[in-house]
Amino acid sequence: MRITLLGTGSPIPDPNRAGPATLVQAGGLDLLVDCGRGVLMRLAASGASSVGQLHAQLLTHLHSDHVTDFNDVVTSRWITSMVPNPLRVVGPPNTRRFVDRTLEMLTDDIGYRLDHHDDLAEGPGVETTEVLDGDVTLPGLDEAGVRIIAAPTDHRPVAPTVGYRIEHDGHVVALAGDTRPCDGLTRLVAGADVYVQTVIRDDIIRQIPMQRLQDVCDYHSTVVDAAITATQAGVGTLVLTHMVPAPPPGAAQEWIDLAAEHFSGTIVAAEDLTVVET
Ligand SMILES: [Zn+2]
Ligand SMILES: [Zn+2]
Repeated sequence: MRITLLGTGSPIPDPNRAGPATLVQAGGLDLLVDCGRGVLMRLAASGASSVGQLHAQLLTHLHSDHVTDFNDVVTSRWITSMVPNPLRVVGPPNTRRFVDRTLEMLTDDIGYRLDHHDDLAEGPGVETTEVLDGDVTLPGLDEAGVRIIAAPTDHRPVAPTVGYRIEHDGHVVALAGDTRPCDGLTRLVAGADVYVQTVIRDDIIRQIPMQRLQDVCDYHSTVVDAAITATQAGVGTLVLTHMVPAPPPGAAQEWIDLAAEHFSGTIVAAEDLTVVET
């Protein structure tokens, strides 16, 4: 499996980091997890896939930073596909409602394009599957030997939220999304070769006297949390992403050192377009 960290940023605009999005390629299937700010620019830069090739768009939760460019994924797939190519979307409960609202938001644009292009007979197709706990059922997974398992995570007061465990050919990748350590996370990461975790540095954030920033500490894993989770689960490689506050490019050694105090496996402080293989 090949994991490309397309966007490693957070809600805070950053010149070097697009919003959260990760491409997982397994068994010939391209799976996009979340679709934050700039996702399709980074997908183009990666050269690894294209919006029309995606087998499914997985969403961990509906926080804006993780879904900002969902409308771009929907529209760009629609207008660059020469035949109907419905986008499969998988996400926690309320995802269907979010998809419907996005399509509603796009009503004007869809109308312009249907009026203009005679060969476009219908608007963008989206097939939504809501998941919370258990195997994700999608066409093509069995044939490709790919298994996707969802489990509930703990990002309260944001709920419901999920993480994903993707298995192929004896390898396991866990993509946790935003969560504190919890039972669902433990199940997702058990024995994973690669564990991708969104993280914050509470030791830095707590020094900044701004309540809205302090609130961020309530519902994320810290670097130490992620490292402890990785150790307890017997993970091979821990990938840190969505780092708050984001270190400048090449300056994440402190984050790695902090994680290494609690985890002896491989630690990757991801930057946009970092690739991890298993
Ligand atoms: Zn979130
Ligand atoms: Zn987030």
